[in-house]
Amino acid sequence: MKILSVNAGSSSLKFQLYEMPEEKVLISGVFERIGIENSFYTVKINGEKVEKKVELPNHKVAFQILIDELKENNVVEDLSEIKGIGHRVVQGGAYFDKTEVVTEDVISKIDELSSLAPLHNPAAITGIRAAQEVVPNAIQTVVFDTAFHQTMEEETYLYAVPYEWYTKYKVRRYGAHGTSHKYVALRANELLGKEDTKLITCHIGNGASISAIKNGKCINTSMGLTPNAGLIMGTRCGDIDATIIPYIMEKTGMTPKEIDNALNKQSGLLGISGVSSDARDIEAGIKDNNKRCILARNMYVKRVVEYIAKYYVELGGCDAIIFTAGVGENSISIREKIIEGLLPLGVELDKEANNVRGKEALITSKDSSIPVFIIPTDEEVMIARDTYFFCK
Ligand code: ADP
Repeated sequence: MKILSVNAGSSSLKFQLYEMPEEKVLISGVFERIGIENSFYTVKINGEKVEKKVELPNHKVAFQILIDELKENNVVEDLSEIKGIGHRVVQGGAYFDKTEVVTEDVISKIDELSSLAPLHNPAAITGIRAAQEVVPNAIQTVVFDTAFHQTMEEETYLYAVPYEWYTKYKVRRYGAHGTSHKYVALRANELLGKEDTKLITCHIGNGASISAIKNGKCINTSMGLTPNAGLIMGTRCGDIDATIIPYIMEKTGMTPKEIDNALNKQSGLLGISGVSSDARDIEAGIKDNNKRCILARNMYVKRVVEYIAKYYVELGGCDAIIFTAGVGENSISIREKIIEGLLPLGVELDKEANNVRGKEALITSKDSSIPVFIIPTDEEVMIARDTYFFCK
């Protein structure tokens, strides 16, 4: 059975078509700069990647081209072969704790939650509408980044702010990257050969979050009301003293929008280093003895270590720590520094095993108190699995 996994951003649309239940990727691609000039898309099939320049005025046009590509490449002969289409949605609020089949009510709830994810939720609705028009007979599902974190307790997800902010304005911790945390946790349980586990999963890419997972359920996660909480990220500040915001607004006359932009787009690794948001550039800066790159890396690592220590206590121990996403899968030196910071817990790196990028691996020595794994994430296959569940 063919299942399409779709991830619509404000100006992009990524897709993968799967043969299920084999989980075989038949074709994948990404449309970029939708609604902007110089738009283009790339398609990958049988390991070969082709880029095409084309006008993409909106998501519906992108979706139509996607379908044409499936036909031209003989991946599908008839649209009726696509039984399900799964859409990634960033914010599901407290409404959704699992994947749902799309209905008008589901769409209106996603729309209602747009103020919590102004760039992402409207884009997802645009993607759903485009898919409904172009492939009307497929079952459409929505897979939420927040759903996996809905198992957190009230005392964990509430902030110590006036309670009405929660009841009136839905201010609470929702978390993000849930699909990725769930995927790597499932895989870690396979590697450990049991399901009653205590895991700390570190999704550290450009955006970054950590989760504490007990017996397959999330009990805490570092992102909050929005994805700008917890860890230091490429351009996001993560945890800060909230009063910095009114203080700087008063000092500079910045508007709420400007300060939000500074905390989301000019902070993190970029803000501290003044060089780049990309860990590769920070590593290059460190080689050149750039003091602010060293500082940025040290602050980044310290925050990850602090969260691991916090979750270790909260879980009452830990069966495995997992690294995933861009930095977690690829940065040998950042992983090494984080594990050095975990020495008081008895975690011990195997330097040779850690000399790897983008591959599943155990990177701690056999004497380490806790095994640390690299597990490359795969959010798309999780979307396909959940969607297949409704179609079979
Ligand atoms: P996103 O959060 O946008 O999905 P990714 O998970 O793709 O991001 O992570 C992207 C980040 O991963 C890059 O910004 C870079 O910092 C980091 N990264 C990718 N490759 C490497 C590498 N070889 N070494 C160090 N860092 C890397």
